Amino acid sequence: MSQDGFEVEFCRHCRNSLFNLKILEKDIELIVEESSHIAKRSHERIKSGFSACPNACSAPQIKDFGVIAFIIPELDKERCVSCGKCYRACKEDGIEFKGYPEFNENCIGCGDCMRSCDYKAIRGEVRFKLLAGGKLGRHPRFAQLFMITENPSDIKRAFKKIVEIAEKHGKRFSHIDGCVDLLNSMIKE
Ligand code: SF4
Ligand code: SF4
Ligand code: SF4
Repeated sequence: MSQDGFEVEFCRHCRNSLFNLKILEKDIELIVEESSHIAKRSHERIKSGFSACPNACSAPQIKDFGVIAFIIPELDKERCVSCGKCYRACKEDGIEFKGYPEFNENCIGCGDCMRSCDYKAIRGEVRFKLLAGGKLGRHPRFAQLFMITENPSDIKRAFKKIVEIAEKHGKRFSHIDGCVDLLNSMIKE
């Protein structure tokens, strides 16, 4: 979706997808349509990236607003047969294997272990990382994590707030000084 003033990119939701973020597409489209944000040049567009897993193919880290879905893996010991396939599937060193998997702080929530298990012994609670304030250009900056949520409605609400802040300041969100602090204060209101 690319419209005057906005660039919205949803990842292509391949087999790694942990959540169908495309259910939000219409709501995001509506916010874009109703917005008065104007971009005279392409770098003034408000950019957003929605990624259905930590591979982050829509580059949310360099967008005004970004979403990354991930899981918190949990083991159902009753189902586990101690085959070790999940341990071998993890590319992040996120599992210590002690006859059964124990997930550690290296886990990024990609879901590879869950998909590898033939016994459905790993379940994953889906969460969303919400990022803001990323940009490229002369002074590039990675977006900052400002919320982790399990509620997809928070994604719409946060995007709307980012658009409101941009409209109020007459600038692309990530071009506003202290944009993420402004967002955080609005969210706490
Ligand atoms: S972000 Fe994940 S789900 Fe989306 S296209 Fe990339 S690998 Fe597939
Ligand atoms: S792949 Fe499944 S069954 Fe095998 S060790 Fe891992 S959780 Fe247990
Ligand atoms: S979710 Fe991904 S990173 Fe975490 S333990 Fe499983 S395979 Fe490793």
